[in-house]
Amino acid sequence: SLSDRLGGVFDRLRGRGALTEADVRGAMREVRVALLEADVALPVARDFVEKVTEAAVGQNVLRSVTPGQQVVKIVNDALVEMLGSDASELELGVTPPAVIMMVGLQGSGKTTTTAKIAKRLSAGQGGRERKKVLMASLDVNRPNAQEQLAVLGTQADVQTLPIVTGQQPVDIARRAMQAAKLQGFDVLMLDTAGRLHVDQALMDEMRAVADVAQPTEILLVVDSLTGQDAVNVAKNFSDQVTLTGVVLTRMDGDARGGAALSMRAVTGKPIKFAGMGEKLDALEAFHPARVAGRILGMGDVVGLVERAAEAVQQDEAEAMAAKLAKGQFDLNDLRAQLAQMRRMGGLGALAGMIPGMAKAKAAMAGGGMDERILLRMDAMITSMTQKERTKPEMINAKRKIRIAKGSGTTVQDVNKLLKMHLEMSTAMKKIRKMGGLKGMAAMFG
Ligand code: GDP
Ligand code: MG
Repeated sequence: SLSDRLGGVFDRLRGRGALTEADVRGAMREVRVALLEADVALPVARDFVEKVTEAAVGQNVLRSVTPGQQVVKIVNDALVEMLGSDASELELGVTPPAVIMMVGLQGSGKTTTTAKIAKRLSAGQGGRERKKVLMASLDVNRPNAQEQLAVLGTQADVQTLPIVTGQQPVDIARRAMQAAKLQGFDVLMLDTAGRLHVDQALMDEMRAVADVAQPTEILLVVDSLTGQDAVNVAKNFSDQVTLTGVVLTRMDGDARGGAALSMRAVTGKPIKFAGMGEKLDALEAFHPARVAGRILGMGDVVGLVERAAEAVQQDEAEAMAAKLAKGQFDLNDLRAQLAQMRRMGGLGALAGMIPGMAKAKAAMAGGGMDERILLRMDAMITSMTQKERTKPEMINAKRKIRIAKGSGTTVQDVNKLLKMHLEMSTAMKKIRKMGGLKGMAAMFG
């Protein structure tokens, strides 16, 4: 992975003051290779590396991390910034119908994504109010393209515009607008014909449709496996119409996400969704941090380091490390841990990053370990005596009832908490036995 590569480059730098230009350039050669391997378009990778080099040169090497880690962090931050900091919503706050027009190459996933978005909006997913959605296919080129959308409409429980044979795309768009207005639809989704390559006749048609329908959103649908050609696709489409966003499909495949960076660099528009499969539910909000990790090939490591750095007080960490070294982890420690988790944005975000945590989370029925659950666990521990906290094995059935009453929970909840504590202390004992992983102990502080 990139971190390994950079480790080699930077090992000799340990303990020096600032990152020099030569050091950074050496590392950036590796970053550039990693970007190209992730299918970031060459000119985009080149610009990106140039920008990051400027930012990195002269930064002081932190005492606590290796220069390699520090550069990975700088690169990661720059990637996230470039990919867009937040998930971006669809613009629907206009006089209805809000028109969403889908454009892109043939086979990129326009028709599928049209139905996915329609389903999402009409089902009121993402905590938004349900919308009355109409879909219309303007694809008169591919045989059965309009029928394909009608079938998806049935699956998604979303209405499609009745098919009238012999109509041209602009006429279908007009008819769809009229139907949407007359029948009180909130949203009209227009699925357009694909292009094998960028073809002027089809580009003209797309512009004519946009003129008639005045979409509030024009979404460019791009296959995330597009690779080096992504730049040309993005440039051609954004030259012809005013895009408002991008949808990256097939993110469930082996794409490493490089197309995302290329798209952002060329269009400057937010990536609004990621397609994660063929099913109509397989659509997710785009997560820049996740994709940045994918591009750099290092999962959630950066996120963990970052959150740890924010939340962990050094002295707390040392005290915890000392306890772990002695093989102790009682309910007082768990309580401190839970408070830390609340500060770090909930257990959900951390599950999977820390050994034992995923299992502990699974042990809590009902899934979501949100703020509420963390507070409830805190209440249970508060209801215990000091002795119970340090010797959980003494908590018998009678004590459980008392603790449940005192904390407004149930005996079942108390059992879950005790089980979670057991899972965690077992996991930590294992870490200790494996020796090392000093860093993990420190992060746990
Ligand atoms: P269009 O020509 O742009 O309308 O593309 P389609 O919507 O017809 O999709 C082409 C193929 O890609 C279909 O077989 C879809 O099921 C598939 N597809 C679309 N989006 C995704 C995705 O996010 N992941 C996967 N694995 N397949 C997808
Ligand atoms: Mg299609």
